[in-house]
Amino acid sequence: MAIIAEYIWTDGFEPTRTLRSKTKIIPELSADADVTIDDMPGWQFDGSSTNQAEGNASDCLLQPMFMVPDSIRGPGSYLVLCEVFNADGTPHATNSRAKLRAVLEQGGEASDSWFGYEQEYTLYEGSRPLGFPSERRYPAAQGPYYCGVGADQVYGRDLVEFHLEACLDSGISIVGINAEVMPGQWEYQIGGPNAGPLLASDHLWLSRWLLYRIGEDLGVAATLDPKPVPGDWNGAGMHTNFSTAAMRAPGGISAVHAAADKMADHIDAHLAAYGAGYEMRLTGHHETCRYDEYKWGVSDRTASVRIPALVAKNECGYLEDRRPNANADPYDVAAVLLKTTLDLH
Ligand code: ADP
Ligand code: MN
Ligand code: MN
Ligand code: MN
Repeated sequence: MAIIAEYIWTDGFEPTRTLRSKTKIIPELSADADVTIDDMPGWQFDGSSTNQAEGNASDCLLQPMFMVPDSIRGPGSYLVLCEVFNADGTPHATNSRAKLRAVLEQGGEASDSWFGYEQEYTLYEGSRPLGFPSERRYPAAQGPYYCGVGADQVYGRDLVEFHLEACLDSGISIVGINAEVMPGQWEYQIGGPNAGPLLASDHLWLSRWLLYRIGEDLGVAATLDPKPVPGDWNGAGMHTNFSTAAMRAPGGISAVHAAADKMADHIDAHLAAYGAGYEMRLTGHHETCRYDEYKWGVSDRTASVRIPALVAKNECGYLEDRRPNANADPYDVAAVLLKTTLDLH
């Protein structure tokens, strides 16, 4: 039997790239055989429909880069993450994964770096977040929902559990889940120990695809809007936890401090990679530091960069950049963190 491959890529939408995918049946490959990414043929798509090309020269190329078993379709099927190339074989301007690869090709400490992303998101039914009463009324103020339990506290756990199972079955490095501070808002964590920047970012993009895909079956839309409800409601972020081998080694706290200090000189470069709408979320309220200020601190959730209390105590570990939005592109986030802290270009 042939294999079924879902080719997945990011489009050219401004200001936020979104996911696209289409299905390829590959009769030359058997569902019973061991297939690898090298067996996956290139493909193309209509770039004029994704803001990646003009209609009179519309073909963009899809190059498979990473794949996992497709836990939704089951045995003999795969989710195939692709990079987008121009017809002449150069990386497309929207190909942020190629830009991260170029940073990693400079070698050095970047090759031992680990990334852990905390992906927050908000579930919607129609035009309202799950758990919000219809029309113009609002639920009771924030407080009980974070890590809550019970039908009057958390909303959408069926989707959350299906998503967890799908990620695990596909071999995606999901390491945790929690309900967030606004009704209908959730978080899951991807990567962490032993997850390099490309792997963690590839896993994150595939986990997002699975989240949307599972939502289709339940009639619930997951969104990565960084400030889905204005006013006194937390926004949605993608805290990024980052370490190098030097930070993780005994006494590595000095390398953690050095990295946090370097980031003070590159505020704009970091914000440019942290997702559209960060001004709305990074207000200085709701567990954020204002976007145009920069400070780091131990255990400080009002800082741009937090050093977890246990890291301070152990005098080694990692740091958390709290600024990336839920809608940030993890390839861009990883690239700027590596460039700033390791003096790469
Ligand atoms: P919090 O909500 O308290 O900020 P989470 O538990 O949600 O923390 O997320 C912490 C993340 O940090 C996890 O994804 C974990 O895998 C990751 N992490 C732990 N150690 C490291 C490390 N040395 N380098 C990079 N990421 C790490
Ligand atoms: Mn978290
Ligand atoms: Mn959170
Ligand atoms: Mn966090």
